[in-house]
Amino acid sequence: MNLSPTPDQETFRAECRRWLEQNLPGGYGRGLPLLFDDLAEEVAFLRGWQAALAEARFVGVAWPAAYGGRGAGPLHHYIVQEELARAGAPELVGRIGVNLIGPTILAHGTTEQQQRWLPSILPAHQLFCQLFSEPDAGSDLASLSTSATPTNGGWLLNGQKVWTSYAQFADWGLCLARSHPAAPKHQGITAFVIDMHTDGVEIRPLRQITGEADFNEVFLNDVFVADDQVLGPPGEGWRVSQSTLGVERGTNPRQLVIHIQLLDELLRAAAETGQNADLRIRQSLARAYTEVRLFQLQNWRVLSRLTGGHGGGPEAATAKLFWSEMSQRLHETALEVLGPAALLWRDDPHNPGGGRWQRSWLYYRAASIFAGTSEIQRNIIGERTLGLPRESRKE
Ligand SMILES: Cc1cc2nc3c(=O)[nH]c(=O)nc-3n(C[C@H](O)[C@H](O)[C@H](O)COP(=O)(O)OP(=O)(O)OC[C@H]3O[C@@H](n4cnc5c(N)ncnc54)[C@H](O)[C@@H]3O)c2cc1C
Repeated sequence: MNLSPTPDQETFRAECRRWLEQNLPGGYGRGLPLLFDDLAEEVAFLRGWQAALAEARFVGVAWPAAYGGRGAGPLHHYIVQEELARAGAPELVGRIGVNLIGPTILAHGTTEQQQRWLPSILPAHQLFCQLFSEPDAGSDLASLSTSATPTNGGWLLNGQKVWTSYAQFADWGLCLARSHPAAPKHQGITAFVIDMHTDGVEIRPLRQITGEADFNEVFLNDVFVADDQVLGPPGEGWRVSQSTLGVERGTNPRQLVIHIQLLDELLRAAAETGQNADLRIRQSLARAYTEVRLFQLQNWRVLSRLTGGHGGGPEAATAKLFWSEMSQRLHETALEVLGPAALLWRDDPHNPGGGRWQRSWLYYRAASIFAGTSEIQRNIIGERTLGLPRESRKE
């Protein structure tokens, strides 16, 4: 594995860093800022930020130039993510479209579909959401029961989705529905791109333990979806969904940089309070350092596979499992170092970091659930890396 940067990559990194120094919105910098109380206001602001970033062509650099990208490889994508995180830039509000749905449309969409949807994704002119999970179909996604019934010129969708991030702001959603109920469960699914503003789509935000409400229940009541909004052939939605889920589990340079920064901050806090002399805290900090370094090596390993033209493979599952559980352990250490004040609600003036740590601790509880739970990652590693017998599944 040779990941030494080429001169071209170094120039690109410098270009990206310079642009960020000159254009990062005020208030952003190191750490996780809490600038907005109102999510709608924040989303509007972040759409503007993403549009500026896309105009400079730092969003979706691996996308074809025709749709706003640079046709670049995974290393350039990695560099941009690292630089954005290093600069403390906000996460892309349209990341579901940029990272998941756009690449799925590129892989499975017709030319007309690509021309219809892709140009609006990178500049966040239109936002997309992912309508996969249902109340009774999460890890076992192929059990989904939202129905798609053929009708004149299209399909009628009925059912319920859940945990749909940013559905309340989305213009379009990639939805999996059961179109062929008599077929074996993986073969009877079709992927639809549905207009989230159409009749019959009802969105109810769900409040999380952080107090925010970025995900939702989505009810579909006789939602008409035209034939030209079917992505991939009818009945082959499972194959389409694998493209979306595959890109969900790759490298994670953003989280890597954030964790290096969190660790730095913790080391400083432990030095300021003298806790770095405490035997138990020293053990926790040394473990946190080792884990962050291991995560860095895992990222490089997956990146090496991707630059070699291979998929993320089972290494991607190992990296996702390790990162999500490491982040939770690091936040436990943070609360130990910062003490009881770290638990105070964000408005409290005595809270170190203005409530950032407490919010962040709560947020990372979700890391071992989204993009495949830890148990599911262990199943993947067991089967594909260790060659254990496949888990018995009901068809
Ligand atoms: C922050 C966040 C954002 C999300 N955003 C979206 C989104 O935008 N769109 C979307 O479609 N979904 C989204 N999800 C949903 C996410 O994909 C599911 O939560 C996840 O797939 C798990 O499904 P579930 O919640 O139904 O849990 P279940 O699948 O019901 O699992 C419950 C428990 O059983 C365990 N389990 C299940 N099956 C097995 C097995 N075979 N072996 C061992 N253990 C097992 C699980 O690990 C878990 O601990 C989001 C989730 C979160 C937390």
